[in-house]
Amino acid sequence: MRILVSRVAALGAVLVTGTLVTGCSDDSTAASRPTASPPAASAPTQSPSGSASLPAETDAPPDAADPALDPALSEPVEDSVYPDVGDPSVDSLHYDLDLAWTPDTRTLVGEATIELRSTGTGDHLQLDLGEPLDVSAVTLDGADVPFDHQGKDLVVRAPVTKDERYVLEVSYSGTPQPTPAPTRRSDFSTSGWTTTPAGETWTMQEPYGAFTWYPVNDQPSDKAFYDISVTVPSPWVGIANGVMTDQTEVDGLTTTSWHLSKPASSYVVTVATGDYTRTTNTSQSGTEISYWVPSDRPGLATGLESAAAGLDWLEGLLGPYPFDSLGFLLVDSRSGMETQTMITLGATDYATSSAVLVHEMAHQWYGDEVTPDDWRDVWMNEGMAMYLQGVWQAEEDGRSVEAVMDEYATFEPAMRAQNGPPADYDPATFGEGNIYYGPALMWHELRKRIGDDAFWKVVKDWPGRDPETNSNRDEYLDWLVDRTHVDRSFFEGWLLSPTTPARS
Ligand SMILES: [Zn+2]
Repeated sequence: MRILVSRVAALGAVLVTGTLVTGCSDDSTAASRPTASPPAASAPTQSPSGSASLPAETDAPPDAADPALDPALSEPVEDSVYPDVGDPSVDSLHYDLDLAWTPDTRTLVGEATIELRSTGTGDHLQLDLGEPLDVSAVTLDGADVPFDHQGKDLVVRAPVTKDERYVLEVSYSGTPQPTPAPTRRSDFSTSGWTTTPAGETWTMQEPYGAFTWYPVNDQPSDKAFYDISVTVPSPWVGIANGVMTDQTEVDGLTTTSWHLSKPASSYVVTVATGDYTRTTNTSQSGTEISYWVPSDRPGLATGLESAAAGLDWLEGLLGPYPFDSLGFLLVDSRSGMETQTMITLGATDYATSSAVLVHEMAHQWYGDEVTPDDWRDVWMNEGMAMYLQGVWQAEEDGRSVEAVMDEYATFEPAMRAQNGPPADYDPATFGEGNIYYGPALMWHELRKRIGDDAFWKVVKDWPGRDPETNSNRDEYLDWLVDRTHVDRSFFEGWLLSPTTPARS
């Protein structure tokens, strides 16, 4: 999930300089913290004129029965923290999103073709889609069907049969609006599609908010494949997850097509539009890394190139990078997000630091490859990403990991007290430091108990154990107890206790 750019991640930067004075869980201290620089001012950007429309459809007809979609079969659940978003009646398999964005009028035109499995027999399917978007037509297997679109609930009125697969097409347009985020963090307060004053766009959508720009089962247990095409007036370009398979320019409009070859949860989908320039470098292990930076700020790419060394470092601990492409996308945000294969970062000093690049790349294993079923278990992502970030920072600073953990331990109890235990947090405080630092300390305590060799084998084996899938606390703890022979109460104490367990 997002790094804690202006709160805890900024705190990490403070810690490195050794100037941390006191706690960090309330907004006033966060706001006064000096390290999270706002996005640097850039020259005013002119949006290109021209009205974007969808290009003629050239894709092959969708085939929901295609066995190539089987890796996207999921067991969707109702979220225990945010039950109003997502619906377990739908198991989406593939989203083919054709999007056209007109900056001048702030208009998005979308055509979503969704191959899905109905998880039950009934008279409707339900997806999430933002209220500001107007739906003009819905078809199921090619036939027009009635629908209701109240609030963000898109209810498709058609008889469906358990385990049958369908092709749902939704045509929509409008001016997307971000949705309030259930958090008190100072680096973001809304989630989803965001438009800059110049008409550029970007998205970060954790724990939900994908529904602000496309119809989706917006809950992490339901992974799906994605093909996204984006049409914008030239010279702007659209960027999304995966590999760019095509770029065409016709009548002053640029269309880019993107293919994501492994299933993803909706919160790690990204799309952005603007005037971008792409550069690349390559890790020693041979992964080409793309850097998409605003064309008027080419210097930003230079600072990102340490990602290649960070990726090599992570592969040494976690095994081969799990996806077939990797890129970084710089946007006008104060935060950062581990969007699958195309990491979305605010153009701030902290969000583009090597420690944060390592954090977000670590999430490609912990979060993107293996994803929590339910937001209660976001600690599964953040604890390990934060621990690996701490180990990286220790090496960079020439300090011991224990010294970094000592610092984490100075503020973790207050975060836990304020926001709840890492695996049972206050739903209004999504993404606070409690889900990062307590689990990071837990991992270090486990390392001391079982020794380096056994610990790093556990860290490496978990994401490789069952690729492209979801998991949950019970399953993870069963596996950890079996592998480490450490009592379950050790893990439960760190994850569920209202107070911080003693460190060894
Ligand atoms: Zn994170």
